[in-house]
Amino acid sequence: MKYTSTRNDTVSEKSPQVILKGLAPGGGLFVPQGVEKIDLQALRGKTYPEVAYEILKTFLPEYPADFLQEQLADCYDNHFGGKAGELVKVEGNVHALELWHGPTAAFKDYALQIMPRLLAKARDMLGQTGVTQILVATSGDTGKAALEGFAGVPGTAVAVFYPAGGTSEIQRLQMVTQEGDNVAVYGVTGNFDDAQKGVKAAFSSEPLAEELAAHGITLSSANSINWGRLAPQVVYYFTSYMKLCESGAVKLGDPIDFCVPTGNFGDIMAGWYAKEMGLPIGKLICASNKNNVLTDFINTGRYNAKRELYLTSSPSMDILVSSNLERLLYHTTGSSEDVNRWMKDLAETGAYDVGGAVQAKIADVFLAGWTGEEQVGEEIATMFQATGYLTDPHTAVAFRVAKDLGAGKERPLVVVSTASPFKFCGKVLSALGQTVPADEFAAIAALEAFTGKTAPASLTGLRGKTKYFTNVVGPEMIATSKLYVK
Ligand SMILES: *Cc1c(COP(=O)(O)O)cnc(C)c1O
Repeated sequence: MKYTSTRNDTVSEKSPQVILKGLAPGGGLFVPQGVEKIDLQALRGKTYPEVAYEILKTFLPEYPADFLQEQLADCYDNHFGGKAGELVKVEGNVHALELWHGPTAAFKDYALQIMPRLLAKARDMLGQTGVTQILVATSGDTGKAALEGFAGVPGTAVAVFYPAGGTSEIQRLQMVTQEGDNVAVYGVTGNFDDAQKGVKAAFSSEPLAEELAAHGITLSSANSINWGRLAPQVVYYFTSYMKLCESGAVKLGDPIDFCVPTGNFGDIMAGWYAKEMGLPIGKLICASNKNNVLTDFINTGRYNAKRELYLTSSPSMDILVSSNLERLLYHTTGSSEDVNRWMKDLAETGAYDVGGAVQAKIADVFLAGWTGEEQVGEEIATMFQATGYLTDPHTAVAFRVAKDLGAGKERPLVVVSTASPFKFCGKVLSALGQTVPADEFAAIAALEAFTGKTAPASLTGLRGKTKYFTNVVGPEMIATSKLYVK
């Protein structure tokens, strides 16, 4: 399998280069040129790492089989508490795919546990020496997942930049207590955009690149537009389906729907690839919070990012420009020219319009809806009261949108659950009508006591941990070598 660029189809690259480079030359995203069909019968009875191998070997043909098998087994058998791909029946035809049993209690672990190992292997295969320095701007979840994934991976170092005061206290503690010789964490004065701009400035600074090169350091990104972040997410769509077949909830070959709480369009795009690979998916439901750019786009064909960004209780979905959508545009039209034009429109005017024919093709596969803050609270409360199922605000958005669209009636529905409710105790407690203790650990204890559920040990274990990283820097500092060269 070769990869091309969404903005230039003369590009043709193999998987190790794609993983290492992250972004295609000229600013496009790498996309596979055609995907392989997966034989569902052959997946019967396979474990999570075994299914992961069947899927990922098609995307990574240059990687040695024994390397992939070993790494996937270690990743998903040893780092997800025995619950990789955990599927829980909520009620009737509705199931929750709990993707938060990994080390950081959010779904980004699924990609970020394996991607650093793929990147290190790509360095070996391509004979790259020196250090690959990963820079990450984060609004919360990605930073910790990247730290956990890259800590201790040979030939790599990771530096994470979060908006000081802009993350939840638990998210901050998760990051600043990170252990490892190749990790660094900085608070940045300003908001997430300031941190992201600082990282972008570092990537485009030639003086910085030269200075780092003199020390054998090359900059790279672990951003969700890297193919290595997307491909591992295809796997859990398949394992969910196979589990429903096993339990008799669906007959092999019959379609099911997925509802995905969406921000950067990476997770749901992985579902699209799963469908392309032959997984019987009826609809992919794209659920947004009040930042409903994608809802409008899927329903009208016009992408309009010229609007206010709302800060909601589902912060990982507070996004106006969903980068991975570019992949869908390319695959739907097959035209890098069209994609180029739309991305230029977006950059210059903040909006683009794909027209009725393209919109109709997209709406064939995707349904879209959004929901507001009040409804998210209601959903958390009614879901818990009616079924005993406890959900975080991101996942609650998806449950509510699915319900509003009438999903889960005729066909089985899998709601992709992206974070542990204990990562967002404040919103969950107040939705349940409880007072919210100011101290994060007291809040966790209160939520445990009220619901009878147990918080992930990775969160309660943060209490009393050494805080290694207390530096706060200005965004302009990110593009200076001071922060990297030791
Ligand atoms: C990142 C994230 C999302 C959004 O996923 P995308 O791939 O960006 O669409 C949803 N929920 C949680 C908890 C996340 O961390």
